[in-house]
Amino acid sequence: MDFDLVVIGAGPGGYTAAIKAAQLGMKTAIVEKDQALGGTCLNVGCIPSKALLSSTELYREAQHSFGAHGISADGLSMDVGAMMKRKDGVIRKMARGIDYLMNKNGVERVLGLGCIAGPNVVEVDDSKKTQCLKAKRILIATGSRVTGLPFLEIDGETVLSSDHAIALGQAPESMVVIGGGAIGLELGSVWARLGTAVTVVEFLPRIAAMFDEDITQALQKLLKKQGLQFHLGTGVESAGKTEGGVRLTAARGDKKVELEAEKVLVAVGRKPNTEGLGATEAGVELDERGCIKIDDKWQTSVPGIYAIGDVVAGPMLAHKAEQEAVAAVERMAGLAGRVNYGTIPSVIYTSPEVAAVGLTEAEALEKGHEAAVGVFPFQANGRAVAGGHADGLAKVIADKATDRVLGAQILSANASELIAEAVLLMEFGGSAEDLTRTIHAHPTMSEGLREAAHIAVGEPLHI
Ligand code: FAD
Ligand code: NAD
Repeated sequence: MDFDLVVIGAGPGGYTAAIKAAQLGMKTAIVEKDQALGGTCLNVGCIPSKALLSSTELYREAQHSFGAHGISADGLSMDVGAMMKRKDGVIRKMARGIDYLMNKNGVERVLGLGCIAGPNVVEVDDSKKTQCLKAKRILIATGSRVTGLPFLEIDGETVLSSDHAIALGQAPESMVVIGGGAIGLELGSVWARLGTAVTVVEFLPRIAAMFDEDITQALQKLLKKQGLQFHLGTGVESAGKTEGGVRLTAARGDKKVELEAEKVLVAVGRKPNTEGLGATEAGVELDERGCIKIDDKWQTSVPGIYAIGDVVAGPMLAHKAEQEAVAAVERMAGLAGRVNYGTIPSVIYTSPEVAAVGLTEAEALEKGHEAAVGVFPFQANGRAVAGGHADGLAKVIADKATDRVLGAQILSANASELIAEAVLLMEFGGSAEDLTRTIHAHPTMSEGLREAAHIAVGEPLHI
């Protein structure tokens, strides 16, 4: 079969690219080894984790916040099985949506493991037969997989990856989470809310190191109140099985830390999927971290072979993969696709959520900016107090000389939604003053970001 474009991998990068290519008139096929489309994000990543975060957040609110509203939640209980069933239903519903989009746009679905057999040939093996797809262009969107630790084999029983931690049948008594990044904090929160004693061990001196220190300190304090414990600046060095679980030995400086738990979640990052793909054999070059090297058109070192998403460098985020998908396909079609890597928002969906875009204050200073910074506490925001969501901060970082906004960070309920305003402002090169002069509905939590901008320009209003 002959195609203008064969996409390998049907995650948010691959399926978005296939839709865009078909819309631009390319005869397109998408090769996926798994029965279900949607990739990591839909099947074991973004969506299942958010379904579980939503369920457990409701449960926690019912336990701890309903009383203040005068609502009694006597006899409250949690059925973990029902919660998992709901999560699986959410995945199925969204997967049907992707099937629909493939059909609607006339994208040919090919089930099987894709392997590049030459610059214009993709071989697909579905374990019964191998078929050859001829392609004018190939797009690699094979995503990433869990990184392990050399001394700790992930067995899915006591030593878990995120794939397992989103599918447990009941809340364990105790869990050590290795890694205080996005997965560790999100899935650690899920199980802590259901009564598991969660201990996070993080190698760096602070959790969620992509945010500024004032934000992560406030986040850690709030998570501690929710029962999570932290060992920071601590690296796990060895492990052994016990009768009831695992014993870990970690080091903080020259101090040894011994930890025992029923389950261990390994959440120390992910690595690009390039093995068994035939890409390197076809001449596609990798960088020192094993990511596929691309140029400014997302073309690899082999003309006609492109790559996007988790398999290339940059933050491993679904929205980054999607944006690259559209831009790469536009470039194939001779259009001017681009991705503004300076305005990719980053969110951790804890409670409260934490979200950021652009430079942190520390990065702004490192880059030689004189930073004008405004930090506004949601305790002074009417909607936040009325809704019982007053924990958190909004922060705006602007360049003192030009007033241009360099970055923003928000720790609050719905920070994932609130950050979109800062992303848009930065996309248009907006200033902190622009933000102060933009009318925000009252009372809303979005006013918090405007208040932070008022502080950044030196004209605080409601504080
Ligand atoms: P993937 O989604 O990994 O898709 C790659 C696809 O390629 C897979 O379906 C795979 O089966 C297929 N494939 C691989 N090799 C082959 C082959 N040789 N032949 C055929 N098919 C192949 N990101 C966010 O932005 N927000 C979040 O909230 C978020 N939460 C996450 C939570 C968890 C627990 C995890 C693990 C990740 C989360 N992520 C989140 C990250 C997000 O899932 C990834 O950044 C995103 O899925 C990357 O998309 P992709 O299309 O590049 O790759
Ligand atoms: P991560 O890179 O976000 O965090 C890993 C953490 O583990 C880091 O803080 C690192 O310092 C720490 N670490 C590494 N080795 C360690 C060790 N030996 N001992 C203790 N700590 C150690 O990775 P992740 O949380 O596994 O997530 C994987 C990818 O998935 C990330 O790129 C992330 O962007 C993406 N993801 C995104 C979201 C989201 O957008 N909300 C959610 C989940 C995952």
